[in-house]
Amino acid sequence: MKKFLIFLGPPGCGKGTQAQLLENYNWLRISTGDLLRENVYNQTELGKKIQQIMEKGELVNDEIVFEIIKNKIISSASDKYILDGYPRNLNQAKLLSEFAKNIKAKFFIFLIELNDSEVIKRNSGRRICKNCQKIYNIYFFPPIKNNICDNCNSELVFREDDKEEVIKRRLEVYKKEANDLINYYKENIIKINGKESAFEIHKNILKLLEE
Ligand code: AMP
Repeated sequence: MKKFLIFLGPPGCGKGTQAQLLENYNWLRISTGDLLRENVYNQTELGKKIQQIMEKGELVNDEIVFEIIKNKIISSASDKYILDGYPRNLNQAKLLSEFAKNIKAKFFIFLIELNDSEVIKRNSGRRICKNCQKIYNIYFFPPIKNNICDNCNSELVFREDDKEEVIKRRLEVYKKEANDLINYYKENIIKINGKESAFEIHKNILKLLEE
């Protein structure tokens, strides 16, 4: 049976980091943000269309994102998927539920809670490897060598949409949609305290997945 793991929580709460840590346990991470950024970077037709939307911190069209994630799931051999950055609103959640019902997938839903000031600090400290996309945080999860990826020795970069004005907009967008999502999944949600260290949270999640 296929399993879908979803992380809900504000931008910068550690969803991406937790997803990357779970990859060591045969969970396949599908990050809609990464897939969309890849299109922008390669200036594909889609990339040109969505570039401005992403730079402003707005959401890309639901059907476009759903097609991307669905195709990625269908074309991969895994049966354990982390949907990193998806769903972002109720409509996306419904599209996903319909698809999950058809392929008889089971959901695991985690909500990582974090307050606004922490969100802003986390995002401003985030750095990403421009080669392998590993996520760091200069305050909480720094690389061993300053600005260099531990994995592949490439340079770490600051995401355009991690600028403070854009973070504030992304947080607004999150809050607008989050209540609906939390309500929609309320029977299955497992809450996690986002202020704990990345490794504490990771250990906790592994334990919960085993139960
Ligand atoms: P992320 O890397 O998850 O923070 O996403 C970065 C940006 O990609 C977001 O601010 C949106 O512009 C876009 N994006 C990522 N995932 C989605 C999604 N599920 N629906 C719509 N837009 C998305």
